[in-house]
Amino acid sequence: MDNPLLHDASLPAFLSIRPQHVEPAVRQVLDENRRGLQQLLESGASGWDGIVVPIERMQHRLARTWSPVGHLNGVANGDELRAAYNACLPLLTAYHTELAQNPGLCAAYQQVKDTQYAQLQPEQRKLVDNALRDFRLSGVALDPARKQRFRELMERLATAQAKFDENVLDATNAWTRAVDDASELAGLPAAVIARARAEAEKNGRDGWLFTLDAPNYQAVLTHAENRGLRQDFYTAWMTRASEQGAAQWDNSALIEEILGLRHEAAQLVGFSSFAEYSLATKMARDPSEVLQFLRRLARLCRPAAQREFAELEAFAGTKLEAWDVAFHSERLKHERLAVSEEELRPYFPLPRVLQGLFAVAQRLYGLRIEPRTGVEVYHPDVTYYDIVDANGDRRGGFFLDLYARPKKRGGAWMDECVGRIQLGGDAALPVAYLVCNFTPPSGQRPSLLTHYEVLTLFHEFGHGLHHMLTRVDFPSVAGINGVPWDAVELPSQFMENFAWREEVLPLISGHVDSGEPLPLETLRKLQATRSFQAGMQSVRQLEFALFDFRLHAEFAPARGSRLAATMAEVRAEVAVVRPPAFNRFAHSFQHIFSGGYAAGYYSYKWAEVLSADAFGAFEESGIFDAATARRFLGSILERGGSRDAMEAFVEFRGRQPELDPLLRQLGLAA
Ligand SMILES: [Zn+2]
Repeated sequence: MDNPLLHDASLPAFLSIRPQHVEPAVRQVLDENRRGLQQLLESGASGWDGIVVPIERMQHRLARTWSPVGHLNGVANGDELRAAYNACLPLLTAYHTELAQNPGLCAAYQQVKDTQYAQLQPEQRKLVDNALRDFRLSGVALDPARKQRFRELMERLATAQAKFDENVLDATNAWTRAVDDASELAGLPAAVIARARAEAEKNGRDGWLFTLDAPNYQAVLTHAENRGLRQDFYTAWMTRASEQGAAQWDNSALIEEILGLRHEAAQLVGFSSFAEYSLATKMARDPSEVLQFLRRLARLCRPAAQREFAELEAFAGTKLEAWDVAFHSERLKHERLAVSEEELRPYFPLPRVLQGLFAVAQRLYGLRIEPRTGVEVYHPDVTYYDIVDANGDRRGGFFLDLYARPKKRGGAWMDECVGRIQLGGDAALPVAYLVCNFTPPSGQRPSLLTHYEVLTLFHEFGHGLHHMLTRVDFPSVAGINGVPWDAVELPSQFMENFAWREEVLPLISGHVDSGEPLPLETLRKLQATRSFQAGMQSVRQLEFALFDFRLHAEFAPARGSRLAATMAEVRAEVAVVRPPAFNRFAHSFQHIFSGGYAAGYYSYKWAEVLSADAFGAFEESGIFDAATARRFLGSILERGGSRDAMEAFVEFRGRQPELDPLLRQLGLAA
C-alpha cells in the first residue's frame, strides 16, 4: 500500500491521508527506528556523527509521520480517525520509554560528552546535555530492581492522576441546582437561562435546572443578583471531589498518594524532592529561586490588591464573601471603564487584523508573509503562507486554520507540522500549524474579532515565529523543542504586547463599514482594563503557585502532605480575599494533580515577567526599533532550545530579568 504518511515531500499529503493509513505508518516507522537503533548499537557506532545524527534523523521521521495525524485528530476529528489515533498512543509511549531507559544508548551519548565535547558547537553540547539529563530523569542508570520500581511508580501515577480527573468530572456532573422562581434568575445572560430551561425540559420538569460546568459557574458568580444562588454555586464548585461530597469521588486519599509517588520517584533518581525534579528541566535553577521569586512578587502586588479589595467593598457597600467578589467586580468594571468587547468587534475584521499582524512582522524582522496557492489543505478554510526573510530566503511556512467548525477542538494553539533539520542528507524548513476558533464569516461580512481574540492571534503567531525562524539544524533543540516550560511562553506573550499599542492600532483595526481605525479614546479605555484589579488577580495566581510549589518541595512521607496547613499558611501570607473554612479548592486543582503543572504553576508568572521585561526593551527604544528587533531575533527567536534560556535572555536584555516592567504593565509599579 502506498502510504501518504510515509512520503517525504516538504508538506503533508493532506488530500490522500486516510484513517487506515495511520497505524500501519506508525508501526512501520517504529519498527524501522527500532531496527536502526539496534544496528547502531551492535555495530559499535559512536560519536556525534555515528550516534547523535542518526537518532536525530529517526526522531524527525517519526515526528513528521505523526504530526499530521495528531493535527487532523484535533481539527477534523471523526470516529475512524480517533480510533486510529488512540490505537497508536500506547505504541508511541512504549517506544519513548524504551528509548529513554536504554542504557546502551545513554552510554553512547555519555561517550560523546566524554570524548568530543570540547570540539562540539554550543548547540550540539546543549543537545547532548539535554539528552543525558532526560536519560537520568527516566531512571536509565538504576539497577534492575529500582528501574522496575520507577516504572511501577510512573504507571501508578498515571492511573492515580487519571482517577483524580475522573472524580472531579463525576462530582461536577452529579450536581444540579433547580430554580422554580424566575426572580432568582435576575441578572443572568439570556443564553445561560435558555440552557437551564432546556435542561429542565430534558428532565421533564418545570422551571430551570442548572448543571455545574465552568460557563454556568462563571456566569452565576459574575452576573446573578441573587446572593443565595451565587453561594450555592460557589459552595458546590469549591467542594467538588472532597470529603464534603460523595465518598466515591473524594480525592483526599489520591492527593496524598500522588504526592507520595512523585516524591519517591524523584528520590529514586537522585533528587531531594519532586520540586527539584521538576526544576531539572526548567529555567529556574532551584526551589529557593522560585520561592523567592513568588514571595517578592507577592509583597509587591499585595498592597494594590488590598487597596482594590477595600475599594470593591466600599463600592458594594457591604462586607464581601468569596461568592460576592466576581459579581461586584463586574459592576465596578462596567461603571468605571464602560467598554465592552462586543462593541469592539466591527473595528477588527479578521482580514484587516491579519494584514496588520503581518505588517508588524515585516517592520520588526523584515519578513514577507505570502499566501501560496496549490498547497494541499484538509479544509477549504485553511490557507498556507510562506515566510521570506529580508535577504529573500524562504525560512519556513504555516497552515492557518482560523474558524470554529464541527469536529474541531476548541481553543487556540500553535503546533509543529515539520521541524527544521539540516543533517546528513535530511533537509527541511520548519512548518507550523496556527489554529484558532473565531466566528466564521457570514455572507459578505468577514469574521469580526474581539480585542481578546486579536490578542489570541498575536499570541499564537508569536509561538509560530519561534518555531519558524529557528536557525538550529538539530530537531531536538530547534524552534520550541527543548525550550524549558517556564520560558516557552516568552515569544508568544511578548507578541501580545503589540496589540495593545497605539502605534499598531492603525495597522490592525479598520471599521468593517467605514474603514475608520479604532478611536484612540476607546483604546485608552481598553488599555485601562488591563490594570483593572490587576493586584487581586496577581495575588490569586501567586497563591496557587506558592501552594503548588511548597506542597511539592516540602512533602515528607512520614508527615504526609500538610495540605490544609500549607494552604492556610499560603493564604495568610498572600491572599486578600479569604475563602471560607469549607473551601476545598485543592481537591479539584487539576493543573497540578493531573495536568502538567506540578511544581510548575509558577511558570505562568515567570514567563509573564520575561515577556514584559523583553517588551520593555522595545518600549525604551521605540517599539519598531530595528536594532532591538534584530537582537531579539538573534538571541531568542532563532536560537530555540539550543542554549540556556537565562543566557539567551541576558544576551538580549544585557541583564537578568526584572519585575518592574510587568508591574508597570499591570499598573502596579510603585
Ligand atoms: Zn501559549
